[in-house]
Amino acid sequence: MRNDSCEYEFLLDNLFFANIDGPEVQKGKVNVVLKVKKTSRAFELDFQTDGIVLVPCDRCLDEMELPVSSTDVLFVKFGSNYAEEGDNMVVIPEEEGDINVAWFMYEFIALNIPMKHVHAPGKCNKSMMGKLNKHLKTTSDDEDTTFESSVEEQIEEVEEEQAVDPRWNELKKILDNN
Ligand SMILES: [Zn+2]
Repeated sequence: MRNDSCEYEFLLDNLFFANIDGPEVQKGKVNVVLKVKKTSRAFELDFQTDGIVLVPCDRCLDEMELPVSSTDVLFVKFGSNYAEEGDNMVVIPEEEGDINVAWFMYEFIALNIPMKHVHAPGKCNKSMMGKLNKHLKTTSDDEDTTFESSVEEQIEEVEEEQAVDPRWNELKKILDNN
């Protein structure tokens, strides 16, 4: 009996993401286990993806860690021209006989990233928030206030923290004088 399945393991690191040069993820450390099974009509590729990626926070633009974990299936079959059929079927020309799985691994990770991702409350880069706030004050006529309101939200959070412990206000006065 021929062994019709095999398993590969990849560690996608910063170099991988730099080489792929995709828009969503530039850095990360992600482990991918790829199981390839040959069926009568196609190859079945099962990807198990686990790790973390570093993406810019929507609010302060600093890097933040996002865990990624997903299971994806891709079917590959031979045909005359390269084609994608449906969500997870790829046709590759028979004479080429190979498939660039790197881009698929990248896409599975990119699809896993939520539309909105921000640091936990209070974890944003405060100096960046301050700079943004100054800039936004000079452009308050701007119709697009989405980002502005999220900055205000963040500043409220900071003020609440200060109100909890009055000693923090004293400390801040000292810091401001320097
Ligand atoms: Zn942030």
